[in-house]
Amino acid sequence: MPTMNPQTAAKTTAIQRCIDPSCGTRFRLDERIYVCSRCGGLLDVVQESATDTEQLRALWTKRLASFETRDRSGVWRYRELLPFADDAPIVSLAEGNTPIYDAPVCAVYCGLDALTLKHQGCNPTGSFKDTGMTAAITQALILGVQTVSCASTGNTAASLAAYAARAKLQCAILVPRGQISNAKLAQSLDYGAAVLELDGNFDDAMRVIRELAEDESIYLVNSINPFRIEGQKTVAAELLHQRGWRVPDHVVVPGGNLGNSTAFGKGFAELMDLGLIDRLPRLIVVQAEGAAPFADLFKAFPISALGIAGVSPASRSQHSASDWNSWPALTPYEHPHTLATAIKIGAPVSWQKALRAVLASGGTVLSVSEQEMADAKAIVGREGIGCEPASASTVAGIKRLVADGVIAPTEDVVAVLTGHVLKDTDYAIKYHEENLFSDGDDTTERRKLAGTYRNPPTLVQATKAAILEELLRHTGG
Ligand SMILES: [Zn+2]
Repeated sequence: MPTMNPQTAAKTTAIQRCIDPSCGTRFRLDERIYVCSRCGGLLDVVQESATDTEQLRALWTKRLASFETRDRSGVWRYRELLPFADDAPIVSLAEGNTPIYDAPVCAVYCGLDALTLKHQGCNPTGSFKDTGMTAAITQALILGVQTVSCASTGNTAASLAAYAARAKLQCAILVPRGQISNAKLAQSLDYGAAVLELDGNFDDAMRVIRELAEDESIYLVNSINPFRIEGQKTVAAELLHQRGWRVPDHVVVPGGNLGNSTAFGKGFAELMDLGLIDRLPRLIVVQAEGAAPFADLFKAFPISALGIAGVSPASRSQHSASDWNSWPALTPYEHPHTLATAIKIGAPVSWQKALRAVLASGGTVLSVSEQEMADAKAIVGREGIGCEPASASTVAGIKRLVADGVIAPTEDVVAVLTGHVLKDTDYAIKYHEENLFSDGDDTTERRKLAGTYRNPPTLVQATKAAILEELLRHTGG
């Protein structure tokens, strides 16, 4: 695979910068680092882009009719936002381009007049991870690495395996044994990755992968990799482009490792800096109760008293990006537990970036129970849409916030679904057969969840009469 001179492949104005305002150390884009070498802080990619906003909107719309690979990608279509040169060796599977749906059944369920779902599960490997992976693997080619690696709860693994295969790079993925869904495991195997199953949980896998990344031969593409965030942030542009640049009041995302929350926050902030939007949607992050260190942090700190209700735009802007740094550290969960494996993470690596994004937008963070998630997932299914369990945390969270009066029924809300319904079919079948048990740890009991909206299969005789009778029963006739 040809490699490129980083100087020509990188936009000259883009750099990597430590997110800690008291440090702010800058690094070139071609430096293979994942955290600040001075203070250990996370890194942002920052660039100056001065543009004519009307021209930019017109250009992006024009690209919708193009057949060029870069224009067909819902990530690279917005390449003016990305820190890559025009001749970068793009690795694309036509990611992005995910639909937005009206969701009237979910809206009624949540107590809203209307609700929009942005389905990132409609990406090539069935999760939002692809939008970041296209950027990270492109950067891997620019850097000339041979092996790419990640620790994963499943979706990242599947995505990395696919993009590494496209780029003809060796791929090693570390997964916690027995803790990822079969569908996700099957994808990684089919895409030809070396799948290394570890005894331990995701956080153990994450610790090992950070040690491995010290090896020169391995390029780490977990969400700590700032180029992943760069690709993922384009979803903010795609979402607003699809809505004719109408800014929603709230954008709600599931919270696991918090890379996605970070990316949405960064995307919206940059669109505002460019003058493409004039306000930020409030960013709401929803975690599972058994893996909710970020929600705990938000609950414990006095600023949460501001909540999101009643925060005027003026006071919100005072609680801008600079505040996050004065917050206490997040307390990790040693034994996170939830059936929503995609967000079963006790020590989210991007929590500081996500906190910065939530604060800047006047948003909030909460957690929901396994039962709330399971029921919300069934409701998303009733739309004819469906999603994986973690994605349903958004609808469950919205229902709670509407009930609590934090979101008004008339407000414009977008829930982000992060994974496809086929990512975890065991869960769905068990729910509908009322055989779904919560995921306990050493201290919590496994509890049977109610199949509130269950729709179990029925055994019928192979006769016309029996089938018609059953259909009548099914429709309540
Ligand atoms: Zn630093």
